[in-house]
Amino acid sequence: MGMNMDDEPMLKIRSRSECPCGSGEIYYDCCRNYHIGKAQPVTAELLMRARYSAFFFRLVDYLVSSTHPDSREKSLREELDDVVDDMLWRKLRIISKSKGGAEDKKGKVEFVAQYHCDGEFSELRENSRFRRYKGQWKYLDDKG
Ligand SMILES: [Zn+2]
Repeated sequence: MGMNMDDEPMLKIRSRSECPCGSGEIYYDCCRNYHIGKAQPVTAELLMRARYSAFFFRLVDYLVSSTHPDSREKSLREELDDVVDDMLWRKLRIISKSKGGAEDKKGKVEFVAQYHCDGEFSELRENSRFRRYKGQWKYLDDKG
């Protein structure tokens, strides 16, 4: 008997593991709710965390749908497909945030994300801008 590598057991393992976003919650109670569309992030920081977890799990659909339409280039999906497989995400650290609250229309979240790529350890530091679209938080760009 070999290991069963179909999707379902993998999803169960994921669901019970600690969420990659670093909230301390299990994935099932955390970013999974955003990834499956059961809930919407109330703040820009929650969307930031959900997108990090989506990078971790290579959920390109979520990364595309959570990008603001103004920034959703035609090549976005292709670009994401290219990068997600090469990156092994290790840790997310939120450095600072401004606005992005439940009553705001815009927000910024500065973070450091550690990853391995081609066996090399690296860090991505970005001040992301978030903006609402039809009431929901979306990722705009890294020009914060
Ligand atoms: Zn999470």
